[in-house]
Amino acid sequence: MNAQPLDLTLAAEALTAQPQAFERFAQMLIEHNRSLNLTRMDHPQDIRTRHFLDSLAALAIVDEPASIHPIDTSFSVMDVGSGAGFPALALAIARPNWRVVSLEATEKKVRFQRRVCEALGLDNVELLHGRAEVLAHDPTLRERFDAVTARAVAPLNVLAELTLAFIRPGGLGLFWKGPNVRQEYDAARKAIKMMGGSAFTLHSYALPDLPETAFYLVAAAKRAASPAALPRRHFGVIKKHPLSHLES
Ligand code: SAH
Repeated sequence: MNAQPLDLTLAAEALTAQPQAFERFAQMLIEHNRSLNLTRMDHPQDIRTRHFLDSLAALAIVDEPASIHPIDTSFSVMDVGSGAGFPALALAIARPNWRVVSLEATEKKVRFQRRVCEALGLDNVELLHGRAEVLAHDPTLRERFDAVTARAVAPLNVLAELTLAFIRPGGLGLFWKGPNVRQEYDAARKAIKMMGGSAFTLHSYALPDLPETAFYLVAAAKRAASPAALPRRHFGVIKKHPLSHLES
């Protein structure tokens, strides 16, 4: 699969358009990092690049479908495993007209995100404490989102099962990946298909300060509704026996 180069101009513009919000978010990350263990980064410049700019890289792919969205409903994004708020809160800051649902399994991280939302006055974010494999069966969340995002949560075959049921048919899945992306993709094809996804495209980019490292965004189109039995409700099973390793 060939990777298309991704232009980070929109991401860089979005970052400079909201200097106070991103600066405050970075300060809060640094302040709470010692007690909450939120990130390996403890320097504002690293946070800007590795968390904010990296999260906003998605704008180059999502801005266009979001802009042609009917104006009476807002473009909706579910971020699965958002941790300290990536990419969820970065996208919510950059695009106040989107509705962002941020799902995270660890309560203390959800609490941190709540403090950030309050401090920044972010009113387009809904925080959910829970597990994707359980909440994907909730009818108010299933097949409801225009896009689902996940960064640094699981290998692609596991992610496909965890996340694709949240996307409405015709919507988009976006997954942040590193250098192993092609192997992960090969192992995930079957899981993606079983979940109703198809037509993956691979986008590559470099971040300033890290010119040697290749970063990837995998974009998946959701074509058909996911089967009712999926995802399986136990993370242990999903992880130990990924769909791609099962016989069809
Ligand atoms: N996306 C963030 C955090 C990555 S760490 C970032 O890029 O910085 C992965 C996070 O996913 C952890 O906070 C973990 O609690 C959460 N997570 C893992 N499996 C999950 C699941 N099944 N449902 C919800 N959250 C999950």
